[in-house]
Amino acid sequence: ALPPRLFFEAVEQAQVAISITDLDAKILYANPAFEQVTGYALENIIGKKESALSDHKTPSLVYKTLWGRLKQNKPWTGMLVNRRENGERYLAEVIIAPVLNKQGDAAYYLGMHRDMTDVY
Ligand code: FAD
Repeated sequence: ALPPRLFFEAVEQAQVAISITDLDAKILYANPAFEQVTGYALENIIGKKESALSDHKTPSLVYKTLWGRLKQNKPWTGMLVNRRENGERYLAEVIIAPVLNKQGDAAYYLGMHRDMTDVY
C-alpha cells in the first residue's frame, strides 16, 4: 500500500488550489497553491468560509445549483468569479465534490480550482 504521507505531499505540491471544508464550507485545510491563487495567507483563510472568495456578483442560482448537487452527494463543476484578498477578481474553474464516509454520507467537501482568467 502507498504510504499516507504520499497523498499529503501530492496535495501539498499540486499546482491546483485545493481546500477541504466542513459541511458549512468552513475551510479546514488549504494547500500552498490555494494561497498563491487566492492571495490569502493560509493562516488567515483557515477557519473562514469559502464564501470569502465570492465576488458577490454571481447570480444566487449558481450557488443554489452548486449546493443542490452537493446535497445529493454529487460533485459540481463550473466557473465562478472569485476575489483575491487584495480585491482583484479572477475567473475560477471550480470542482467541488463531497467526501463520503463509510455510511455514504458527506463528511467533508473537497474544492479544487484554477485561475482561468488568462485562458478566456
Ligand atoms: P451563501 O450564504 O453560501 O448562500 C448561497 C446559497 O447557497 C443559499 O441560498 C443556499 O441555498 C445555499 N447554501 C449555502 N450554504 C449551504 C449549506 N451549508 N447547505 C445547503 N445549502 C447551502 N464559492 C465561491 O464563490 N468561490 C469558490 O471558490 C468557492 N469554493 C467552494 C469550495 C467548497 C469546497 C465549497 C463547499 C463551497 C465553495 N464555494 C465557493 C461556495 C461558498 O460556500 C458559498 O456558497 C458561495 O460563495 C456563496 O456565498 P454567499 O455568502 O453569497 O451565499
